[in-house]
Amino acid sequence: MKLVLKYGGTSISTPKDIQNVAKHIQFLSKQNKLAIVCSAISDTTDDLIEISQSIKKENKKKAELLAKNIANRHQQLAKQTIKKSQIRKKLLQTFNEYFDELNALIDGMVLLGEVTPRSMDYLFSFGERLSIQIISAAIIDIGKKSIPLTGKEVGIVTDSNFGNSKPLMDTTRLRVSKTLDPLIDKKTIPVIGGFVGADQHGHITTFGRGGSDYSATIIGSCIKAEEIWLMSDVDGLMTADPKIVKNSKVLPEVSYIEAVEMAMFGAKQIHPRTFEPLLSKKTPMRIRSSFNTKNKGTLVTSSPSASAKNTVKCVSSVSHNGLIDIRGGSMIGTPGTAAKIFATLADASINVMMISQNPSESSITIVVKNTDLDKAVNILELELLGKIIKKLEVTTDMAIIALIGSGMRGTVGVASKVFGSMAKNKVNVSMITQGSSELNLAFVVKNSDTKAAVKALHEEFELSKIN
Ligand code: ASP
Ligand code: MG
Repeated sequence: MKLVLKYGGTSISTPKDIQNVAKHIQFLSKQNKLAIVCSAISDTTDDLIEISQSIKKENKKKAELLAKNIANRHQQLAKQTIKKSQIRKKLLQTFNEYFDELNALIDGMVLLGEVTPRSMDYLFSFGERLSIQIISAAIIDIGKKSIPLTGKEVGIVTDSNFGNSKPLMDTTRLRVSKTLDPLIDKKTIPVIGGFVGADQHGHITTFGRGGSDYSATIIGSCIKAEEIWLMSDVDGLMTADPKIVKNSKVLPEVSYIEAVEMAMFGAKQIHPRTFEPLLSKKTPMRIRSSFNTKNKGTLVTSSPSASAKNTVKCVSSVSHNGLIDIRGGSMIGTPGTAAKIFATLADASINVMMISQNPSESSITIVVKNTDLDKAVNILELELLGKIIKKLEVTTDMAIIALIGSGMRGTVGVASKVFGSMAKNKVNVSMITQGSSELNLAFVVKNSDTKAAVKALHEEFELSKIN
């Protein structure tokens, strides 16, 4: 089978874990054609982001200290992971060149006093540039041929939307297959850095946080992989967050659309565009643990088998949101009100997570992240209060609870079960939405009610009995 294996940062952050990953890759390579995609090693991207923030605050010392931490972490890891001295020496040499480049970049950004989306993407790309070197070296260390390639080197071409770029798929397909196919045929295992590509001018771009998942499916589509496996520290998609529900279970099978919903609601963080490249060829994806390779994880396909069609598959929650209730008599029957509100929020780059409008049209309620709340209220007040809006009412610290499952579609009684259960548990519901796809029923409660709500629903729909 032609396989793309993507490893998340937590799967490759200790010497033992990297060696195990290399061994597993060696084992799989006997029967399969492989391409590997890697995230940055744990905490590295966070540190790089903090470097950019420190530069913005003109705190050069802090930026340099963080860069030093990254260097130390990778050097330590290289020394403890790679057994053959030749390979280790070469790896450390490459690392040193990258650290010099990283420090030069920090100097440059400090000197210019300029932290642009473009320079940030260049900075953030160091995480994956470093991780692929060590993973590839670990594979060579146990006697297999391997080559590290950055997203740019492998041929991922994107638009120039720095920080949130999209691949130009036709160009990318040509270039990536031209780079990878001969390597795979020669049994050289390519280890590709996720998250990163380059625009048509060769400037480094990124896909946004968690973008390595997206890289994996892009690569998979280019080389016509038969399956994509996302290897991380979780056993698969779960019926609920195991930190909240003790007897939550791994879901054996879900559909793409369900997985998209689950990814959006943070059941397991997956880059939201990850599924796009899979759709045309209906390539199956597995979400598996790199620590527990006996477990088959969750299979994501276009059409799950009949036995996997439970009404509700999972209950997830996202805490720390703010609810804004927007009121005004003149909103009633005035076309364009919603457009103005959402355009105003979009201009301020505020992501709206939930929307509802009552049929009398006198109020629109939206949910945004707590961290965006201040900005959202401020811009609405500035631009629209006293015009189309009469009043803004804000509630902080709210959680979204979402039930996901395509079997809810056309099933009578789901809502009554849900809200009956909330009433029994004395949980107050502030807002409700259900898309017409009936794939997702979401509602808003107080943060402090999150656990009670999730537990009650997990019980109500008997999710611990999912096979
Ligand atoms: N290293 C990047 C991040 O932490 C991309 C990824 O891990 O998928 O967001
Ligand atoms: Mg990651």
